[in-house]
Amino acid sequence: MNSAASAPAPEALDAAALRADFPLLAARGDDNPLIYLDSGATSQKPQAVIDAEVEFLTTTNAAVHRGAHTMAADATDLFEDARETVAAFVGAQPEQLVWTSGATAGLNLVAYSLSNASIGRGAPASAPFALRSGDEIVLTETEHHANLIPWQELAARTGAVLKHIPVRDDGTLDMDAAASLITERTRVVAFTHVSNVLGIVNPVSEIIAMAKAVGALTVMDACQSAPHMPLDLPALGVDLAVFSGHKMMGPYSIGGLYGRAEVLEALPPFLTGGSMITTVTLDEAAYLSPPQRFEAGTQPVSQAIGLAAAVRYLDGVGMSAIHAHEERLEQRMRTGLRSIEGVRMLGDTDRSSRVGIAAFDVEGVHAHDAGQFLDSRGIAVRVGHHCAQPLHRRFGMTASVRASAALYNTDADIDAFLDGVSGIRSFFG
Ligand code: PLP
Repeated sequence: MNSAASAPAPEALDAAALRADFPLLAARGDDNPLIYLDSGATSQKPQAVIDAEVEFLTTTNAAVHRGAHTMAADATDLFEDARETVAAFVGAQPEQLVWTSGATAGLNLVAYSLSNASIGRGAPASAPFALRSGDEIVLTETEHHANLIPWQELAARTGAVLKHIPVRDDGTLDMDAAASLITERTRVVAFTHVSNVLGIVNPVSEIIAMAKAVGALTVMDACQSAPHMPLDLPALGVDLAVFSGHKMMGPYSIGGLYGRAEVLEALPPFLTGGSMITTVTLDEAAYLSPPQRFEAGTQPVSQAIGLAAAVRYLDGVGMSAIHAHEERLEQRMRTGLRSIEGVRMLGDTDRSSRVGIAAFDVEGVHAHDAGQFLDSRGIAVRVGHHCAQPLHRRFGMTASVRASAALYNTDADIDAFLDGVSGIRSFFG
């Protein structure tokens, strides 16, 4: 019997009751509810997160590390406790978690660190990570621009070549193509865990195994998985992974870069300056060990404390229960959308595990018009290319409507959304 089959089913969560924890949602009341289906862009924040930031700023606000006064020591303790809490949320040790301002910053940090390794910075430790002309970086066609452009820049600086694992018509990755694209020439494989447009959970263990077999570095974008499903990054075996605080019930301008200890230890810094050094002369500097080596300058302290409160909140609800709830909402959304004439979904497959994301267009109606129509009914969705232009191009679209659910969405939200979508064509027709 496999462990999934023997694991007890997670207890169902009560989304309607959880809404009370979110002041922005609760303020609207039952008569005029906000049907917020834009959590893929940013999630709402529970009161516990807001309180944690306010509490820090009103009682313990001080610059962390090296302060001589008691409050600085207390602030440092809270900041480092937050690191421990957030690291544990993804199965990691505190020294494996680098604070960043978000996933975009984390991915740029990695790409620029590799760029520095490629010009001999951090040598000899970083030498195995140096890229040379003709080396290959393998990405997927489903990436957010944040996991495309830093690699384009790295390729331009080093002469490395970009390759892309194609996506099939049903939104799943073509793993046969992946097997032939990942070769001895591959130095980096960067991929999203869950596409922010398709909502499909990619076969990341398989990708990591292929990359490991050829000695390539693996970099995973966990922005759309970390808030929605249990995550154990060390168990997954990925080298580096990023996630984004504001999408997982936390504050803005905070995120995490997880790294395997040996990898972080070997990589040179990207940003340099205060707080990341041991000694500095007028000509050179020696750097601290990770994670501080990658944390130059003043850190987002109150945001880190807020993010720790966010992951405590998520853990309190239960990540397995959240995933089961959102998969159910997604199925309700997809089944409903399939039955509405003129709706074409991106990534319409039953073959994969999903999170609660559905993207689609409505024949003859611009995505922006569809979004405004839904907004007039109190339904908040995202329209446009969702920072995934190549993926939209792959499906012959320039824009789509995206509904993305979170733990606070109810069946009633999805039904109201489907009712709204079914009225779009007749309204604009
Ligand atoms: N990657 C994915 C898959 C995303 O959905 C997003 C946000 O839209 C990002 C990266 C960028 O995240 P951040 O806002 O933390 O920079």
